[in-house]
Amino acid sequence: NAGRNNVCFYSDILHLKALGREHVAIQARLSDAIRLGGLQVFYQPIVQSKGGEVFAIEALARWQDDKSGWISPELFIPMAEKVGLIQELSDVVTHQAFCKLREWRDAGLHQKLMLNISRSQLFAPRFVSNLVERLNEFRLRPSDVILEITESVALTDYSRQLKHLKLLGAAGFQLAIDDFGTGYSSLSQLHEMPAQLLKVDVSFTQRLHTEEGRRIMQAIVQLGNGLDLQIVVEGVENLETARFLQGLGVHYLQGFHFSEPVPSGVAELWMRLGL
Ligand code: C2E
Ligand code: CA
Ligand code: CA
Ligand code: CA
Repeated sequence: NAGRNNVCFYSDILHLKALGREHVAIQARLSDAIRLGGLQVFYQPIVQSKGGEVFAIEALARWQDDKSGWISPELFIPMAEKVGLIQELSDVVTHQAFCKLREWRDAGLHQKLMLNISRSQLFAPRFVSNLVERLNEFRLRPSDVILEITESVALTDYSRQLKHLKLLGAAGFQLAIDDFGTGYSSLSQLHEMPAQLLKVDVSFTQRLHTEEGRRIMQAIVQLGNGLDLQIVVEGVENLETARFLQGLGVHYLQGFHFSEPVPSGVAELWMRLGL
């Protein structure tokens, strides 16, 4: 289903979703995986459009289940949110990623870590102070990390979200608006966001083969530039796309063309040597 040139390692999500009972069993196994060390973190580079250096790496949770094999985060992240496991899951990811980041800093590597934060975490009491404490344990600073927050889908949540984002900004974290273009933020809201980066959703990248798709991308880039946001385009799968985006003046690129998400050892290699 993923189309051209893709290898799919995941169990069929729709198939899993269709099986209600299986779903419950998977939830129980997810809970075990979180507690017993069954989760891994993979890393994907975000590359400077000009020069090709690795600017940052995004931490992405991975789960290999004994029974079903690799299960997509598109399935288990929403599941963790639904059953109240997202905080524990995120603690595991954060701990692993901060451990690695400490090693990388000690080795003289300077790339930033990008971490996905889900909405329920954002609103959790003491979220900011817990995260800062965690960083302190590893002698890291908020400026080592960029937090990715998905663009708000529910408008009613907006002012609450803004308040929490400002707290994160005040604590020294850089913020990226993730999956940009899939929510409903208005232009005035975008302007108020205390974010430095805007990550354009992969669905826009996949439409670049049409004239309309290219125009929409161009408009998004102009909008971002006008609001002084640095732009990351996700889902860059080939050289042609990379060149086109470079031409538009996009700052950073991410996608299979550069690398898929990989284990920490491989990520470290390209941070040292370049891609
Ligand atoms: P996301 O934050 O939008 O992450 C980017 C997704 O795009 C990743 O999917 C990545 O593997 C995929 N991707 C990267 N390059 C390409 C490309 O060139 N083409 C295409 N078609 N896709 C590409 P993944 O790893 O399956 O993660 C799915 C979502 O799960 C993430 O979307 C994120 O929202 C969520 N997620 C993953 N790990 C975590 C986590 O630790 N915490 C939270 N809260 N969410 C997470
Ligand atoms: Ca993300
Ligand atoms: Ca995204
Ligand atoms: Ca996404």
